[in-house]
Amino acid sequence: MAAPWEDVLRDEAAIREAAAVAVDAALLHGVLMRTEREPNASDVVNYAPFTLLPSAVPSALFEQAYAVQQDFNLLVDAISQNKEFLEHTLASTIKVDDFTARLFRIHMQVLEEGLAQPVFLGINRSDYMFDCGVDGTPALKQIEINTIAASFGGLTSRTAAVHGQVLKVLGKSEEASRLLPNNPAKGLALGIAKAWELYGSQSAVVMFLVEKVQRNIFDQRCVENELWNRNIRVIRKRFRDVFEKGSLDDDKRLYVDGQEVAVVYYREGYVPKNYDQQNWEARLLLERSRAVKCPDIATQLAGTKKVQQELSRPGTLERLLPGRTEAVARIRATFAGLYSLDMGEEGDKIAATAIADPDRFVLKPQREGGGNNLYGEELRQVLEKIRDSPERTSYILMDKIKPQPAKNYLLRAHSPLQVSECISELGIFGVYVRQGKEMVMNKAAGHLLRTKAIEHADGGVAAGVAVLDTPYLV
Ligand code: ADP
Ligand code: MG
Repeated sequence: MAAPWEDVLRDEAAIREAAAVAVDAALLHGVLMRTEREPNASDVVNYAPFTLLPSAVPSALFEQAYAVQQDFNLLVDAISQNKEFLEHTLASTIKVDDFTARLFRIHMQVLEEGLAQPVFLGINRSDYMFDCGVDGTPALKQIEINTIAASFGGLTSRTAAVHGQVLKVLGKSEEASRLLPNNPAKGLALGIAKAWELYGSQSAVVMFLVEKVQRNIFDQRCVENELWNRNIRVIRKRFRDVFEKGSLDDDKRLYVDGQEVAVVYYREGYVPKNYDQQNWEARLLLERSRAVKCPDIATQLAGTKKVQQELSRPGTLERLLPGRTEAVARIRATFAGLYSLDMGEEGDKIAATAIADPDRFVLKPQREGGGNNLYGEELRQVLEKIRDSPERTSYILMDKIKPQPAKNYLLRAHSPLQVSECISELGIFGVYVRQGKEMVMNKAAGHLLRTKAIEHADGGVAAGVAVLDTPYLV
């Protein structure tokens, strides 16, 4: 999987020059992030961390990831509409995981009242690594699918231009011309625009629901600007604004601060720390409304690690996607081994196996955002402690994926320039819109490549571990 620039990696002078060009190009193209010190002001901003060089990605696996994305869109959408499946799958988890339980309660309440929402918009990102088999052949293996607040579709729309320039500076113009165009920001915006249009009120706005700390605002602005370009008004609000100034009219139309909201796009609300009592009430109000939620709460639940594990059970995909044999086969081919830790013989057995051989596995709680998984010795200790307690059902076990590392330079503000052994994670953005029972849009909307040094087992770009990258197909 070697990229054709092993030669330049050792040329220190050339690397230094290219790195200086790269950083300025990133700033010019808008690969930006606010600073840790001033996360809510744009007076001083920085470039978002990125690799100096594009990373090699096997073209067959890249194509496979694109080819399965519409299937995953259908699958997530099918799960979100399957009350029994969600109820059954999450039954053990919600007994021990308070966050999932609260989401689930809102889901049930909204279903009991009857869904007011006529249009559904899903924006997800399915993430993969290239597992290196015993014979050295890489295979595409899904890490997870993110069904809420999947980020970096904006910034990643701008990295290919930066990497193209770096390659030219390094005398690789031929290779530069082979970098693929990529514009998830536009793809996501087209989905939001379609949902807005189907909602059917010219004066209604799209509301981005955002976090208190907004370091990654430029990523969101890329999508916002695409909407403004289509004459769709965008407002940015927090849960607190919804709590204080949100209301529903008799038709359950949502108004925030006097403006009717057609689409709520969540870039927040995926981790427990996003919620206090008021925010939970705001979430309930949004879910009860007619507005198109991206995602609705059922779709958020469809993205839990517990659901992912349950999907890998024989027969489950077939039940969720009846008659779609080929889609099922394409989806299943991307699954790594996933194991339930529910109480009982099956869970006892896999817990014992993982305690005996922790390096084969990753232990995952029902959390998002990176930095939550357990590996190696820590996995062993935790699992040993909880092996006989129902607490273990708040986790799942997954086979550890082992990609082949490659050398690259990770560019971060205020960090020394040094070569690292790196592994990459490929994400494909999926967008779909459903009106009642009819799918009116189902697309793969672009890709994201993130790369990190191998010493970090876990963590995304926002967590300061991974950096943005561009795939170079080999
Ligand atoms: P999160 O919801 O926190 O993003 P992920 O399942 O994506 O959870 O895991 C976070 C990170 O941990 C991934 O980006 C990847 O680097 C690493 N990771 C997760 N699962 C595996 C696995 N099965 N094998 C190897 N690394 C993994
Ligand atoms: Mg992840």
